[in-house]
Amino acid sequence: MKARSDMAKRKPEDLDKLVLTILRSTGGRSLSAYGIAEAAPVRITPVQVYRTLDRLAQRRCVQRIECLNAWAALPAQANAISVCTSCEIVRPLLSRSIEPAILEATGDAHFVPARTVVEVIGLCEHCQDAD
Ligand SMILES: [Zn+2]
Repeated sequence: MKARSDMAKRKPEDLDKLVLTILRSTGGRSLSAYGIAEAAPVRITPVQVYRTLDRLAQRRCVQRIECLNAWAALPAQANAISVCTSCEIVRPLLSRSIEPAILEATGDAHFVPARTVVEVIGLCEHCQDAD
């Protein structure tokens, strides 16, 4: 096992950059916090990863993929996500009609949404062709 330098004294900005680099190098796959810690070339704890993900999520640099219990680097303007059940590639989706439809439905139900997650589960183009 190769020795890894310690991230314990690194600045939050260094951890942000490291976690974003890891998530942007997965080819569209999401990673769990533990997966991010394992992929890091330096030693970082899962707690450091969670704190970093919280900061990055507040800045909308990363999104939690609820159905996979994982995280992905997606553009901030994505308001929905497609998740392939075969290869687990996650892609951003953009629609002008999703948010108005959700606000209409939640308004009719007298419900105030704090956060909206739209994850569309299915097969990506590549995995459809593989069948
Ligand atoms: Zn796929």
